[in-house]
Amino acid sequence: MPSIPFRRAPPKVELALVGHTDTVPYDPRWSEALRLTEREARLYGRGACDTKAFIAATLAAIETVELKNLRRAVALIFTADEEIGLIGAKRLAEARAIHSRYAIVGEPTSLRPMRAGKGYCLAEVTIKGREAHSAYPALGSSAIFRAAGLLARIQDLGAELQNYQHAAFDPPFTTLNVGLIKGGTAKNVIPGECRFTLEWRPVPGQDPGSLLSLVFAAIEEEKTRYPEFVCDVDAARTDEGFETAPDSKLVTMLEELSGHPSGTVAFGTEAAQLTELGAEAVVLGPGDIRVAHRTGEFVPLAELETCVKILRQAIERLCL
Ligand SMILES: [Zn+2]
Repeated sequence: MPSIPFRRAPPKVELALVGHTDTVPYDPRWSEALRLTEREARLYGRGACDTKAFIAATLAAIETVELKNLRRAVALIFTADEEIGLIGAKRLAEARAIHSRYAIVGEPTSLRPMRAGKGYCLAEVTIKGREAHSAYPALGSSAIFRAAGLLARIQDLGAELQNYQHAAFDPPFTTLNVGLIKGGTAKNVIPGECRFTLEWRPVPGQDPGSLLSLVFAAIEEEKTRYPEFVCDVDAARTDEGFETAPDSKLVTMLEELSGHPSGTVAFGTEAAQLTELGAEAVVLGPGDIRVAHRTGEFVPLAELETCVKILRQAIERLCL
């Protein structure tokens, strides 16, 4: 992948409006997935709320603003590959492509301003054993039994993570999940390999890598118990969360314009990268995250229209 050339002084803007252009895949049996369909004051289609609606609202809002009257710059940032790991936003942050004072990051929040979000971390753990006939256990080493020992330790680490509390979140701590596990080849073969995924969502303020260090320490302990213990950890993602102060001008303004108190989100967003780019960031957009990533995804028309008004007023108040 070619790198974006380094710029000495990134262009300064007052407000960045950020939406991702990619979507998750769709079930081919869903006939409306690629044909936007209006029904009962809702717009249906893949990406309807996550996040085509926010992008449409951004374009509609900017059309109503007299651009020549703007005293401070607005940036429209439409990114790629958010769903597979915030790739576009990470490249912008890495390249220091812009310096923004405030950012509104579009995600379906039912227009509630979200001022903080958890991070997202993912690792794949592979444990190697030695295959043998199950009638002769001494000839082999079970990767599944070794994995079970490590998993029990990881479960305890999950409980330990709850000691670090962040009251703004529900649940108020870093959560941890082992969502996939695969191992062995047959019922009468001592398994030679076992793999599992480890996913955790750190609250802002807690180092996303700290759990990984604890997992490495647990692996070392397992090695002292079982000298043959062989384990490889591939840490694919350690994305931090973000937090903007409740009394930030952007937060209080969006609370007023939306009529909703600010909140927090437990899913990963591009707000962390915008924070890296200097911004006080808030996540806000039309539609409900609970219908995103599902067949039948939709955005309510009324929320889409209200979002246009909120964004127009935000631009006018911050940039005129
Ligand atoms: Zn999204």
